[in-house]
Order: sequence, then C-alpha cells, then structure tokens
Amino acid sequence: IITLAIESSCDETSVSVLKNGRTVLSNIIASQIEQHQKFGGVVPEVASRKHIENINIVIEEALEEAKVSFEDITHVAATYGPGLVGALLVGLSAAKAIAFAREIPLNGVNHIEGHIYANFIEYRELEPPFICLIVSGGHTHLVYMKDYGKYEILGRTRDDAAGEAFDKIARALGLGYPGGPQIDKLAKIGNKKAIAFPKAYLEEGSYDFSFSGLKSAVLNYLNSEKMKGNPIVIEDVAASFQQAVIEILVEKTISCALEKGMKQITLAGGVAANSGLRQLLQEKAKEHDLDLKYPSLKLCTDNAAMIGCVGYYDYIKGHHSALDLNGVPNLKIGERPL
Ligand code: ATP
Ligand code: MG
Ligand code: FE
Repeated sequence: IITLAIESSCDETSVSVLKNGRTVLSNIIASQIEQHQKFGGVVPEVASRKHIENINIVIEEALEEAKVSFEDITHVAATYGPGLVGALLVGLSAAKAIAFAREIPLNGVNHIEGHIYANFIEYRELEPPFICLIVSGGHTHLVYMKDYGKYEILGRTRDDAAGEAFDKIARALGLGYPGGPQIDKLAKIGNKKAIAFPKAYLEEGSYDFSFSGLKSAVLNYLNSEKMKGNPIVIEDVAASFQQAVIEILVEKTISCALEKGMKQITLAGGVAANSGLRQLLQEKAKEHDLDLKYPSLKLCTDNAAMIGCVGYYDYIKGHHSALDLNGVPNLKIGERPL
C-alpha cells in the first residue's frame, strides 16, 4: 500500500508518501512560521490562504522526492481534526479530490493520534500497548494506548496545554513565536533552581494537569521584579519555568505507567522535542526500569508522515472514510467514525 498523506490542521502544510504505513518515502513540511511571527501567533485566515498557495506545490514535491507518480498512489489519508477549520479543509479537500479522481480509498485522521503514531515511524518494532504522554500546542493528554485505534484517556489538562504555556511565557519574555524552542535553548544556560515556581499536582492520584497557575506565577514574578526595578535574568526564568512544567509531566507519567503495570512509555507532540523533558523522563524511566521512546525532532512537530501511519492502520483494519467527510475542529481522540 502506497499512502499519500496530507496534514494542514494548523500552520504547517505537509505531504508525505509512505509504503505500508511505516516506511517514509518523503515527508515535506512547508512551515508558515514566518508569516505568523509578526502577529505573535497563528492567524487562522492567513493560515488557510497559505495552505491554498502551498498545497499543490508540496504534493508535487512529496511525489517527486518519493520518486512516485499519482498512478502509484493506492491510498490517501488526511487530517480532518482537531485544528483550524479553514486550514483543515484545504488539506482534506485536496485528499478527497485525489481519492475521487484516482478511485482509491480515503482515511480521515485525528491529528493527535498522528502525534502518537510518529513513534511507530521512528521505531519499526514498536507495538501497543503503552502509556503515551501527548504534549502539543493544544493538547496535554496521558493516554493508555491499548491497540491501534484504541485509547483510554487517563488524564488531560484542565486549562492550558503544555505547549500553550511555553508559548505564552515566551511571549511575556519577549521571545517571539513559537516559544517552546526558544525557552528550551535559554533553559540550557539558565539556573533551573533560581526561582521556585508553583507546581500543580491536583488531587491525590489524579493524572490531570493544570498549567494556568504556573503561568500566572511567572507573569506575576516578571511584573513584580519589574516594579521593584530588579533586573530579570530571562535564562533563569526560562529554566525555572521549564523545570516546573517537566517535573509535573514526568512525575505523573512515571506513576501512571507504574500503576498500570506498563513497561513501555512513549512521548508525542511538539513539546516532546523539549530537551529537558526528554532527558528527565529518560532518567526517571531508567530508574524504574521502564522503556521510553520518543520521535526524532522532525517527527515531534506537525508532519504528514505520522498522519499517513494512522490512516494506514485504520485502512488495514477495514475502515475508510466517505467522500463527504468534513473537517471537525474539536475532534476528540478515539472519536473517529470508523
Ligand atoms: P496540536 O497538535 O495540539 O493540535 P499544534 O499542532 O499546534 O497543536 P505541535 O505542532 O504538536 O502543536 O507542537 C507545537 C508546540 O510545541 C508549540 O507550542 C511549541 O512551542 C512547542 N514546542 C516545539 N518545540 C519545543 C521545545 N523544544 N520545547 C518546548 N516546546 C516546544
Ligand atoms: Mg505548528
Ligand atoms: Fe500538532
């Protein structure tokens, strides 16, 4: 099966060609970061327009790099949610057009499941079940993946997503968009013990997360230091903030795996690119004799290869989507109409 996969849920136009779900023949990513930077975040209207401008070019490039033509494609996959509806529709419409014209099956894919499946591309031998910590721009979930397409959500954020917290704090520090990578960089040279920011563990035994209190604490710290006329060491703020976020993420993920008796842990989503998180989770996993897997940096953030992998597994299980499939901006994980 040769899958052509399209991702356009946010600010990346990406197209990938995959063989049998896990072999990536090409994975082209056209990022719109530059277009959105001057606004300090993603502007939905601008994103949709850029996707329209990019989509055909990126498809051509993906086919070319994979050294295949439309005639070789036997299956199409596209993200249909969650995401910005106008952005989703561009990629989904292109996918539908290809499926219709070539008379080949289409699978609509949940973007967040895609983030998990990035691990299957990175590690050919990896199989469910495992515990997955999904930390992306809009989501923070602790998921028990039982089988392909089968998930139990054990915890989720009650307010901001981890990536959102990174982006907001970066903005307050004047670091621009997207903030995660910049905070990561500064945190490496800052002192993570400089400022004791609060960590919300919530009720005993809860695997939910909350980052809004931490975010307010950092903003209050910045304001009060400014009022006092104290110099702000942004490396230390970045390091202390990042440490607070990753300690909560790591602690909950490890105790969840231990409680579920699960030896395998995976990490997914844009924040999975964070070097501090990768390192601390790896350390703690080793301590408890657990195996941790995380995708390479390129597969952590949005890309179409991970979408193609989900589409492939849905398809070989006998599912496919109808051509009237619509974009679903608030699609939940495990809610696909299979
Ligand atoms: P979602 O997947 O929830 O729909 P999204 O697709 O916008 O949201 P991703 O592409 O998965 O999000 O990830 C982008 C997020 O990851 C941004 O918030 C960004 O700041 C964050 N991020 C990227 N690299 C790092 C890093 N090294 N450290 C921390 N955060 C990072
Ligand atoms: Mg993005
Ligand atoms: Fe994403």
